Amino acid sequence: AENLLTVDGLSLDFRTGRGRVRALRDVSFPVRRGRILGIVGESGSGKSTVLWSILGLLARNAEVTAGRIDFEGRDLLTLGGADLRAVRGEKISVVFQDPMTSQIPVLPYARQMEDILYRRPLSRAAKRDAAVDLLRRVGIPDPDSRIDAYPHQFSGGMRQRAAIAMSMLTGPNLLLADEPTTALDVTTEAQIVALMRDLQTEFETTIVVVSHDLGLIAELCDDVVVMYAGEVVETGEVRDIFHHARHPYTRALLECDPARIAEVSRRLPVIRGDLPDLTRPLQGCIFAPRCQRAMPGCATIPPPVVPRGTGAAKCHLLDGPLADPDWPPPAGT
Ligand code: SF4
Ligand code: MG
Repeated sequence: AENLLTVDGLSLDFRTGRGRVRALRDVSFPVRRGRILGIVGESGSGKSTVLWSILGLLARNAEVTAGRIDFEGRDLLTLGGADLRAVRGEKISVVFQDPMTSQIPVLPYARQMEDILYRRPLSRAAKRDAAVDLLRRVGIPDPDSRIDAYPHQFSGGMRQRAAIAMSMLTGPNLLLADEPTTALDVTTEAQIVALMRDLQTEFETTIVVVSHDLGLIAELCDDVVVMYAGEVVETGEVRDIFHHARHPYTRALLECDPARIAEVSRRLPVIRGDLPDLTRPLQGCIFAPRCQRAMPGCATIPPPVVPRGTGAAKCHLLDGPLADPDWPPPAGT
């Protein structure tokens, strides 16, 4: 199939002392095989929750109320215990923002990487060779001896390289990355971006990156999902979206100058207003309270999801009785 993974109508609540927080609502998007997809949004947009849902690592107070996550013909949300661990260990792997949280400080990389391959009927020497080879591929100098180092003996950038090597060790079909460069300086970030692109090309791994950093998404990704307050508001190819965004939220993020995003706007710009209270009943467009283009009706009538190419945008301006034939304005205006 063209899609390796499909998130289909995912809705999820968190039970809290304030009541149910409707953290994800009808989230749908495909992850196309062999491509790099970015999920971008502010803190509170639900982007990390989507990633944890794919991994089956949701908090205890999370409850999926609707939807499926299809991966190779199975719904990941219905897998339990051993099946889920097998998928997570062999077919889907993850890189975190801070590799210290996923690396074991008291074990040298050699041991940690051998342990990742515990399902494989290989000798220790063969596992070590495979690990050394991957450390070399991710640019760790002198990997034959550095493999015996402990995480604290590596710099932040080297640790993230090692984390990526560890995540690639089982040859996963899908690599998930949560803010993989946020803890790194700009130079190291650029190196990690180049590395992820190289790995994607060499191994044809499909990658999903969650980030609040539009510059990272622009540099690294082929496709993008824009999330706002628990909903997908726009999806599509990075090229299309960065130059011809159709949702007012995406356009506000891009601040009218898509060509300069990669250099100038490293972080999401601040848009006036607060995120909606997701414990209250929601109707109409979730972005209406902050939207500069909001019309009478936007706050009460659910906006249509209007496809374009491989993507879609959810806004009344694009279709139906509230459509504006002059929307969206040309790029840069
Ligand atoms: Fe703005 Fe209305 Fe479109 Fe929502 S539906 S983004 S409020 S114009
Ligand atoms: Mg997060």
